[in-house]
Amino acid sequence: MSTYKIAVLPGDGIGTEVMAEAHRVLAVVQKKFGITLECTEARVGGIAIDVDGKALPQATIDLCKASDAILFGSVGGPKWETLPPNEQPERGALLPLRKIFGLFANLRPGICYPQLAHASPVRADLVAGGFDMLCVRELTGGLYFGQPKKTTEENGEPVAVDTMVYKKSEIERIAHVAFRAAQGRRKKLCSIDKANVLECSVLWRKTLIEIHAQYPDVALSHMYVDNAAMQLVRQPREFDVILAENMMGDIISDEMGAIAGSIGMLPSASLGSSKEGGLYFGLFEPGGGSAPDIAGKGIANPIAQILSAAMMLRFALGEKDAANAIERAVIAVIDSGLRTGDIWSEGCQRASTSEMGAAIAAAV
Ligand code: NAD
Repeated sequence: MSTYKIAVLPGDGIGTEVMAEAHRVLAVVQKKFGITLECTEARVGGIAIDVDGKALPQATIDLCKASDAILFGSVGGPKWETLPPNEQPERGALLPLRKIFGLFANLRPGICYPQLAHASPVRADLVAGGFDMLCVRELTGGLYFGQPKKTTEENGEPVAVDTMVYKKSEIERIAHVAFRAAQGRRKKLCSIDKANVLECSVLWRKTLIEIHAQYPDVALSHMYVDNAAMQLVRQPREFDVILAENMMGDIISDEMGAIAGSIGMLPSASLGSSKEGGLYFGLFEPGGGSAPDIAGKGIANPIAQILSAAMMLRFALGEKDAANAIERAVIAVIDSGLRTGDIWSEGCQRASTSEMGAAIAAAV
């Protein structure tokens, strides 16, 4: 029997509600697949600011360091929005976590299930039959972190500068993540850049072409980011794995999430360096935030959190069968017509957060 230590950080708003459903599903998975998850909860985000005085208390960091993976809910809410930016829940907790654990690869599946294609804002004929893509975003380099990054004054006028910088080694490591992900899927990798304008993109493209030699089974293509933004809405079914640097990936992955339908369906993984056996230490969380508008009402969709737990099983723990079982259970429940409010349509049965969690646990 394999035993793993999991740091569970539910956070704020709907974070605690959807995390409870992930626990419910994981309890069944543990029995069925003979694995033990030693889950320990810790405070993060707004609740940690209230109780411990900061968004990421040392005790939470220590717990994460002693764990095999971090299962994260969501943080933030209006109560903490007036704090200085660096002390707010997201900036004060998520960014330091990424930094401390070197989480350089953000994986966001963009799945539009055929049964839920009506929830996509894209024209029905373009998403008929749904689509299944994966966005791999570089998370710790590029424009968001490059120095100098400041506002100064020139001739009495404010001047702001940000710096986009990438080392070849940073491009190589994210390229390997993307190529390996493509190998496990439909073996198509589309690398997004702006190589007609940006030096970083020229190095990005050159490095991708070099690394491609190690993955001859994957078809590599390149697309300028502005064209990619268009093609995503024009022909989403054409994409398999999309790879982008930090800022382009930030924007493209949100666009992908929007065209997939509800944010309540989308999990994500932020991975650090790979360990033995192709596994990664990582932070696994829903694509959305703490949804203050629906928090406490018991109507949030727990599927993003439950699928984040499945990604944790696959990428951090190597428990592929357990991950597959959760993903299959989600599809079976959607097939059965059960829907939370965000994905509900005429003729379907409306479910609360806990009813959806219970149905998925039963389907596992
Ligand atoms: P949000 O993702 O919380 O909500 C956007 C919309 O999506 C809302 O209408 C919400 O009800 C809906 N939604 C989100 N998740 C849902 C789910 N599981 N089921 C059903 N509907 C869902 O984004 P926001 O409103 O911009 O931000 C709210 C708070 O969350 C802010 O404080 C923000 O800083 C924080 N936030 C945190 C994270 C994170 O923890 N990673 C990410 C984004 C936003």
